[in-house]
Amino acid sequence: MIQQEMLTYQQLDGELNRIERELRKSDVFIQRRRYKAASQECEETIAKLDARAAELKTQLAVAQQTVRQISEVIEEHSKEMDTLQDVDELNYMNKKLNEQFAELNNVEKEIKRILREGEEISKTFEETSAKLPRLVAGYNKYNDEFNKAAAEIKPRVNQIRAQQAELRKSIDDHIFDIYKKVADGGLYPVFVPLEEGTRCGGCRMEMPKAAVDAQFAGKPYMRCEHCGRIIFKND
Ligand SMILES: [Zn+2]
Repeated sequence: MIQQEMLTYQQLDGELNRIERELRKSDVFIQRRRYKAASQECEETIAKLDARAAELKTQLAVAQQTVRQISEVIEEHSKEMDTLQDVDELNYMNKKLNEQFAELNNVEKEIKRILREGEEISKTFEETSAKLPRLVAGYNKYNDEFNKAAAEIKPRVNQIRAQQAELRKSIDDHIFDIYKKVADGGLYPVFVPLEEGTRCGGCRMEMPKAAVDAQFAGKPYMRCEHCGRIIFKND
């Protein structure tokens, strides 16, 4: 036989589970979670866009600096060419100049690409930012309602917890440890009666009578090999 206090404690846990389940499946809870996830996603997108915009700004500064450097080189080469008479030298200088123009062309393409991506980012940024206030307002609304609902059940929850604390004083430590371990694993109820001498009161699994008797020898409970619950004799 398991102490009545332990069984009452378990029953109260059952009520707490029920209260929590009800709250979690309420529309308010679901909407609150949905709005929270959506606004978080929005904020993450904004942060990513910010980071990318900063990268682009750096890239643009580097590209503009490169344009200035190339322009200077082109200017120098052009001046040098004015002083040259020799055809070979002129050809050589011309080739070098063309290389610089090609490079300039590449950097200008790069600048266009950066500016284009910048425009896209700023568009996405505006769209995303415009959505955020509505999502935050939605979250706040459902969060308020959720807090109200939580406040309504709080007195009963506190009452149950106080009752459990009182019961705990009379519950055997060993039995309570077993209960906690199994309950924390997500099983409820933990303690179930042995039915008709051979059946688990939790999962209804039939066991050989001899095995049950052997398990109960010297202790008031046994573990169901099938569902992991603790079976006690109801006598
Ligand atoms: Zn079982």
